[in-house]
Amino acid sequence: MSDEQPISDESSAALIERIRRLERASRALDPGSGRRKTLRNAVMASSERHLRKLHGQKGYVAGPDQGAGVLSLPIARAGHDLADVIALYEREVVQPGAHPSAPSHLAYIPGSSLYHSALADFLAAISNKYSSIFFSSPGAARLENMMVRWVADLVGYPESALGSIVSGGSIANLTAIVTARDARDVRSGDVPRAVVYLTTQTHHCIQKSLRIAGLGEVQLRYVATDARHRMRPDALATLISEDRARGLLPWMIVATAGSTDVGAVDPLEDIGDVAEREGCWYHVDAAYGGFFLLTDEGRRLLKGIERSHSVVLDPHKSLFMPWGAGVVIVRDGRALMESHGTSGHYMQDALRDDSEISPADLSPELTKPFRGLRMWLPLMLLGTQPFADALEEKLLLARYFRGEVAKLGFEVGPAPELSVVTYRWAPQGMPLEETDALNQRIIEGTHADGRVFLSSTMLDGRFTLRMVALSFRTHKRNIDMALRVLHEQLVRIGLVERPAAQ
Ligand SMILES: *Cc1c(COP(=O)(O)O)cnc(C)c1O
Repeated sequence: MSDEQPISDESSAALIERIRRLERASRALDPGSGRRKTLRNAVMASSERHLRKLHGQKGYVAGPDQGAGVLSLPIARAGHDLADVIALYEREVVQPGAHPSAPSHLAYIPGSSLYHSALADFLAAISNKYSSIFFSSPGAARLENMMVRWVADLVGYPESALGSIVSGGSIANLTAIVTARDARDVRSGDVPRAVVYLTTQTHHCIQKSLRIAGLGEVQLRYVATDARHRMRPDALATLISEDRARGLLPWMIVATAGSTDVGAVDPLEDIGDVAEREGCWYHVDAAYGGFFLLTDEGRRLLKGIERSHSVVLDPHKSLFMPWGAGVVIVRDGRALMESHGTSGHYMQDALRDDSEISPADLSPELTKPFRGLRMWLPLMLLGTQPFADALEEKLLLARYFRGEVAKLGFEVGPAPELSVVTYRWAPQGMPLEETDALNQRIIEGTHADGRVFLSSTMLDGRFTLRMVALSFRTHKRNIDMALRVLHEQLVRIGLVERPAAQ
């Protein structure tokens, strides 16, 4: 370090004086206990205002400004007033749009925002434990691996399995696909001959992951589905043998355990037979449906998931965590590590200690939030039973909704396997374009009303309405509200008679 230059010509006394001044000036970054209390009280009060309103909270708040007021306070050299900033957040960020923490959110795949997890996130951020590397944070690394192990046991994977808690299902699927690519040695020259088998129900993040993984040119085979939108194993087997005969490389089968659109669970056992016979990598995307394994019905439905080579489950969906948690597990954990293992000269101290696997060796991420804690704290405090009960309640609520929405005159889709129900207004003899337009009017009416948040999809080319119950906060009264809102829309549009005044 002999060629080091002084940062300026000033005397050492002047240098020390400048350092002291900057220390004082930057002290705002490190609030003392009094200021911490003020900050904490303001944040806690805001969170309490939110939670107290949740039960009557609209599922969707339509507004002309859509949070544009956020831009009214610029980032400047000096900070703004705490009360002003919190008020701006509540008005411009929390209020507009969908409310994924509210029980009336019955659209897309609802989130939940488990309070225990929010507090765990706070604790994790305060300690800032580096859960990526065992040497740095041995307890955090063990805890993170323990949570992955818990999920692996739930799936029924053997001891060889390893996995990672990443930000969500998309990155989890990407991690699995990269692992499958490397494990089966799909080189760049092989890509145009490699074949992936999926269905039209497969989540679009699979195609996106393939592109990101440099596999955009693989052959995609959309396997035929049955009346419940589930992959047909016989059709799968036929496609694979045809592809083989043509000199292609049947590489990976992607089954879905709870499709986002309709909650369809592919026949995992039978697909497992085909995968084994044909030597294909078998991936199961259970991002939405995975934690239904905590229920008896879910275990029966997802039987065969343990035969897969890799699996994805989203704790931020069916385990009620706030957004930001997806789990990927690979049955042969070595394959995951071979694709994601790390090294680096500056990490030489860390890499010497191998008594526990470092989560960074199993993930595309190095530095990452300590996500294990947001799973661990609630499971530690509550056990698994309340989760199982809440999920079973959601299965029954879906069944209840289907029966009741049919009584309103809607045509209903197949009995739900999980907690998604599809339905549409389709009177006999009405032309298709007309029913599509009517269903669009119904869903737009529900959005303008906002008391519950419902969504729609295109199913077999038809505009179809969906109701998804997934939040632990969603109960029968919210489903009844959805039914009331739908009925009011039918009356408004003139599809049914206004009920006689009571
Ligand atoms: C939600 C979902 C994904 C994507 O997961 P994100 O957590 O949103 O990234 C993938 N597959 C299925 C089946 C899903 O439901």
